[in-house]
Amino acid sequence: MTRSPVLFRAPVVFRVAMRTRFRGQTVREGVLLHGPAGWGEFSPFPEYGPRECARWLACAREAAFEGWPEPVRDSVPVNATVPAVAAERAFELVRGSGCATAKVKVAERGQTFAEDLARVEAVRDALGPAGRLRVDANGAWDVGEAVRHLKELDRFDLEYAEQPCATLDELAAVRRAVDVPIAADESIRRAEDPLRVKAAEAADIAVVKAQPLGGVRNALRVVEACGLPAVVSSAVETSVGLAAGLALAAALPELPYACGLGTMPLLTGDVVDDSLVPVDGRLAVRRPAVNPELLSAFEIESPSWLRRMQEASL
Ligand SMILES: [Mg+2]
Repeated sequence: MTRSPVLFRAPVVFRVAMRTRFRGQTVREGVLLHGPAGWGEFSPFPEYGPRECARWLACAREAAFEGWPEPVRDSVPVNATVPAVAAERAFELVRGSGCATAKVKVAERGQTFAEDLARVEAVRDALGPAGRLRVDANGAWDVGEAVRHLKELDRFDLEYAEQPCATLDELAAVRRAVDVPIAADESIRRAEDPLRVKAAEAADIAVVKAQPLGGVRNALRVVEACGLPAVVSSAVETSVGLAAGLALAAALPELPYACGLGTMPLLTGDVVDDSLVPVDGRLAVRRPAVNPELLSAFEIESPSWLRRMQEASL
């Protein structure tokens, strides 16, 4: 019996529309790579240059050519994400999510702190006293605002506050002044950043993503070296990219917090049948297979993306 040769697809550039604007974008684009281990996603944000993109590409190559370490758990808890919506809508979102943990956007430009308070209160009501509630300011507060607002918001029992201020020095000052644990997210964009966060005593928790940290194995090493508990988050990817984040969360020796991997519903479509969508607040650890028909539905012609990938590999 002769074995038929395994055929690998050429890289596919994709574009998927998003349900709501994210980082000023209305679409998510990238390149999907096919190799002996499966498909990998290369989808750096538009403003990233070749040096940053090299890490994202390393993650896609690991997925396509190596595969991932063995998981130590078979499902991963995820948080519901509550954008800067009105309190009633926030309540409904959390109630409908099935998640025991919710992350609430605060400090949205053009909104007042009273709106933040009302939203956080509504989310606490929806979660009940046992639910975990974290807030994310995306670096928008100064130290004084962060300290005042976190002290007030903590009456709703905050699990942690994600990136209350922009810089490491500010995060460290806030951390010294409040009881709420601090998580670093935007401060961690490159592999060396978690160590800087730790050295500056700027955070209690590191939010990590598989693509910017150069893949699952590299991210595992970074988390181990940094020594802070990690929350694995997505970069709003298709299920191909999400699977790398899920593999990272599944392989971490400790996973004390729910992860930010429940982002598939932010996209209007996916390239797999068995999308990585959470059920009852958890993602079952798996690697869904790409459906070629769905893939061609999202495929676009884009020499500039292939060039970007080429430049990242130099
Ligand atoms: Mg964040």
